[in-house]
Amino acid sequence: MRNQLKHFIHGEWVESTGSETYDVINPATEEVMGTISMGTKEDLDKAVAAAKQALPSFSQTSKQERVEMLERIAEEYEKRKDDIIETITDELGSPQKISEKVHYSMGYNHFSQAAESLKDFSFMEDRGGHTVVKETIGVSGLITPWNFPTNQTSTKIASAFAAGSPVILKPAEMTPFAAIILTEIFEAAGVPKGVFNLVNGSGEVIGNGISSHPDIDFVSFTGSGAVGKKIMENASETIKNFALELGGKSPLIVLEDADVEAAARAAVNHIATNTGQVCSAATRVLVPSKMKKSFEEAVLKVLPEFPVGDPREDNLIGPLISKKQWDTVQSYIEKGVDEGASLLTGGTGKPEGLEQGYYAKPTVFTDVQNNMVIAQEEIFGPVTTIITYDTLDEAINIANETIYGLAGYVIGNDPENLRKAATGIRAGRIKVNDTEADFSAPFGGYKQSGIGREWGDYGIEEYLETKTILGFPS
Ligand code: NDP
Repeated sequence: MRNQLKHFIHGEWVESTGSETYDVINPATEEVMGTISMGTKEDLDKAVAAAKQALPSFSQTSKQERVEMLERIAEEYEKRKDDIIETITDELGSPQKISEKVHYSMGYNHFSQAAESLKDFSFMEDRGGHTVVKETIGVSGLITPWNFPTNQTSTKIASAFAAGSPVILKPAEMTPFAAIILTEIFEAAGVPKGVFNLVNGSGEVIGNGISSHPDIDFVSFTGSGAVGKKIMENASETIKNFALELGGKSPLIVLEDADVEAAARAAVNHIATNTGQVCSAATRVLVPSKMKKSFEEAVLKVLPEFPVGDPREDNLIGPLISKKQWDTVQSYIEKGVDEGASLLTGGTGKPEGLEQGYYAKPTVFTDVQNNMVIAQEEIFGPVTTIITYDTLDEAINIANETIYGLAGYVIGNDPENLRKAATGIRAGRIKVNDTEADFSAPFGGYKQSGIGREWGDYGIEEYLETKTILGFPS
């Protein structure tokens, strides 16, 4: 059992002022794996006061001091590798391999990348007649979801630290323990008092409290569009700056000359990774009409490469995060069938032999029309849709017929068609074929997928204000 009934405020673990607690459930066993305190408005006020107190000195630290601090954090993070992997496996239900290859490594990469990006970052630019200075935005409130407990926290914290902004983090109550390890890492790395504050609690109390707090200057949020809208509303009261990383319904365009089996494997991988609980997952697979049959056969062929089951064993797909998420996924699968899409594989219910745990069947719908609910709404589970097209122009139009624009993917060989698809999709991040991840590249969405960019130097920019000085003595 992991219990942490304290919050981390002004460099110390302190008792909560409230008595309410929350039991965290391991989604693979449906058993309680630990308990946290549900913070109160008073706890949040204390954390904000601590961050505000830390602001003048932290914002004036040199670039070199902050680079060294981020490097120390990356070193301490590496030392906690086993704990991080085990914790994420337990609280999220992520298979160990994914906890290591995806979750652990993304967190590490954000801290080390922020140090690298900061080294080259210019905070002052002489532009002839005037000077532009980039200054810390102030105190930042960070609200993160459960699906990437180290990635989304680390990218926000690393960028804020690089920019000299003290933070208050409210992680999702369903996955709080990775954030507790991060807090211990910051303690070990000597992050100054008040620069990092952790208040556990609900979105209703702490999340709302952050987005409406008069002493918080900037809010960075990742999660659902519905909460994103509330954040915008609350932030408007104090004309607070904000960045939102919301949902997606990303397209994967399979070109005519693509290797059909590799494309099918990529499509399945999108709904296997993190059990499809990924904002940037491709969940609309656009396949040339003449390739439909061979693509469907290839999907069925590669599916056994992604075994579903106990995340502590050698599986690649774990359970969904909660009973609520499982119910949501089931209702979307029912909706798809009702709408007239054909089930190529999967369907409602639990996979055979996996009665305990929130496991869902990897589900692939074919004969899908892009205007169906299953092709328009974010399902956040191991469910994908195959939609056919006849020309690349048609594929690009289908790809763009969505309220979202977080990511897009294209697989094929012809360079001209790859370029045409990559530039034609209106989304914040396009991946061509099996290109490696790049943590210095900006991440964020068009349209209802969000506002702002994270990662690397673009991420640091979010935590900065721009000041113009005219007549600055040189
Ligand atoms: P939410 O958007 O509700 O939760 C994300 C974070 O926001 C959590 O820390 C949550 O706190 C917090 N929060 C909740 N209400 C408020 C509020 N009023 N003000 C400020 N913060 C708040 O996502 P869900 O967990 O409910 O997931 C629902 C759906 O959202 C998913 O099915 C998926 O479609 C989408 N989603 C998208 C994500 C993405 O990466 N873009 C990530 C997660 C979900 P707490 O949960 O502790 O109460």
